[in-house]
Amino acid sequence: MRNKLAEILIAKGIKNENVLNAVRKIPRHLFMDSSFEGHAYQDKAFPIAADQTISQPYTVAFQTELLEINPGQKILEIGTGSGYQTAVLLQLRAKVFTIERQLELFKKTSLFFKKMGYRPKKAIFGDGYKGLPEEAPFDGIIVTAGAPEVPKPLLAQLKIGGRLVIPVGVDEQIMTLFVRKSATEFEKKELGSFRFVPLLENKN
Ligand code: SAH
Repeated sequence: MRNKLAEILIAKGIKNENVLNAVRKIPRHLFMDSSFEGHAYQDKAFPIAADQTISQPYTVAFQTELLEINPGQKILEIGTGSGYQTAVLLQLRAKVFTIERQLELFKKTSLFFKKMGYRPKKAIFGDGYKGLPEEAPFDGIIVTAGAPEVPKPLLAQLKIGGRLVIPVGVDEQIMTLFVRKSATEFEKKELGSFRFVPLLENKN
């Protein structure tokens, strides 16, 4: 079923073999509630705890491809959720730092990582709007929730040459890629519309 899912992603335009191999390898059904398990290899998003969703496999593959990860690179993920995207990043041998703001999901997914032997460098309970200044700069930053605007700290925490992949918008999001060209310059590309749960800011 995972091989079939990879074929569907190829048909939709995903080309990166390392990304496709991660999809072939990672048991997505284990990242989902058992009531949805039977649907795990459809190319669809599904509900997880705390009213959140596990992203659609195509979206995960598309965002991951845009990061252009090399082994050993430092990647920051905002929105751990089910941990599926985290597992894909780890499969690509990135050093992963991941932040989740829902305590219930943070606890559940942290336990799940231990059980499965997935080892992000850090899984953090907190507000991803601020990024993770103590571990910056990053080779890549991926935001897996819809951001009403681009959080400035995330741009600031990219290495020169680093890539930020972020869905920007309120009802619908435009997948946006920023590549840092210098201390002050960023190249911006807009890459189609998607739908995500909202990136929420902690107001305290
Ligand atoms: N990568 C996840 C996507 C989960 S949905 C997966 O495939 O399962 C997006 C996640 O972003 C949710 O879990 C939500 O709680 C989290 N989120 C929303 N706003 C956030 C913020 N400011 N900081 C960190 N996580 C946030």
